Amino acid sequence: MMIDRTRLARLLDRERAAFRERNPRSAAAYEQARGHLFGGVPMTWMNKTAAGFPLYLAEAHGARVTDLDCHEYVDLCLGDTGAMAGHSPRATVEAVADRFGRLGGATVMMPTEDAAWVGAELGRRFGLPYWSFSLTATDANRWAIRLARAITGRPKILVNSYCYHGSVDEVLIVVGPDGEQVSREGNVGAPVDPTVTSRVVEFNDLPSLERELAYGDVAAVLMEPALTNIGIVLPEPGYLEGVRELTRRYGSLLINDETHTLSAGPGGCTKAWDLHPDIVTIGKAIGGGIPSGGYGLSAEVAARIEAMEGLDLVDMGGVGGTLAGNALSVAAMRATLEHVLTDDAFAAMTELATRFTKGVQEVIDAYGLPWSVTQLGARAEYRFTSPAPRDGGESNAAGDPDLDDYLHVYLANRGVLLTPFHNMALMSPATTEADVDLHHEVFAAAVADLVS
Ligand code: PMP
Repeated sequence: MMIDRTRLARLLDRERAAFRERNPRSAAAYEQARGHLFGGVPMTWMNKTAAGFPLYLAEAHGARVTDLDCHEYVDLCLGDTGAMAGHSPRATVEAVADRFGRLGGATVMMPTEDAAWVGAELGRRFGLPYWSFSLTATDANRWAIRLARAITGRPKILVNSYCYHGSVDEVLIVVGPDGEQVSREGNVGAPVDPTVTSRVVEFNDLPSLERELAYGDVAAVLMEPALTNIGIVLPEPGYLEGVRELTRRYGSLLINDETHTLSAGPGGCTKAWDLHPDIVTIGKAIGGGIPSGGYGLSAEVAARIEAMEGLDLVDMGGVGGTLAGNALSVAAMRATLEHVLTDDAFAAMTELATRFTKGVQEVIDAYGLPWSVTQLGARAEYRFTSPAPRDGGESNAAGDPDLDDYLHVYLANRGVLLTPFHNMALMSPATTEADVDLHHEVFAAAVADLVS
């Protein structure tokens, strides 16, 4: 079944017009902000909107969001994982109110006992004993990279093509059309060309990985165990074992970025698939919406760093931030891990994502669409190619911005939010079967309109 592009363009116009009609207060707020905010938004990525302007937030609770025009949505976006615990989960709200209100103090330059609790719990989940905190996954990655360079004495970081690990200079590199390694299109003000600092290979490609590691200059491979920022690309059997074996053989550290792949279970893919990285990085979800993140080190990596002389890890040596590990952030992480994103919660969230995946697959099959849907624990994503892509380059080539926009606006106009930048649905502990079924009903109608 081919998509009729003329019909798609007409339907997209229709949905955008309906969106404008439906959301006058969001439209007015955006217009007003344009005089004061760069790009008209608090953060420039908020201009990634299928409809021409963003919906403005009024309230968000659990898996529901209400916008300024009083429409309620089933939120399958969940802050692109930052709200995987659901919006403002009660246990986190209470811990944050207690720490910031009753006890007082967020940025005091003193540790609290919550931090060691969080370190122990992350250690239990991911199998790495020593943890340090950040406020974002970007910073966790930046600091992990610095530590890896320090202990190996090597200059380069290796990543997978079309990965995303935050606005980290080293990762903005892709495999080009002729197999060459090039700066990612649109890379803003790169300090140096990323080919100086980095190497890049496609996911699921062990021969290329070995070729690049054999140069002997790679401090660390930084990767997601499954790609999640170019659709979801799952590892093929034997791939992750191969990555571990090759990184060991060529003396490079392995850093698993579990920021999104935490969806695979309480200890992310690392635990679910029995992986043994040297460092795990994480961010977003673990603070239940309060900025938080961190990195975990193996005993060996921690010992190697501690044995080095002359590293300034205390002051201005390049690792750390004033607000990192603050009392509010660690209180939020503790409450979220202890009471919200629990082992039991993941089982239910994964069941919902399985229901989501099955329902989407049924629509794809019913219309004979050349699309695929891929699940990773509590998240699932559809992509406009079939079979599902096996690497980032393939998945990137299957991008269809108009189709993305059409489905996003169609769903938003009928009360369902998907993640901008993705066709991703994430399940929280507050998401229900009825929420998933509403998506299916609207998704099926959007497809029916498109192909009938
Ligand atoms: N790692 C991964 C895998 C991510 O997907 C992202 C953001 N999407 C980041 C790191 C960076 O997170 P943040 O922007 O919160 O620093």
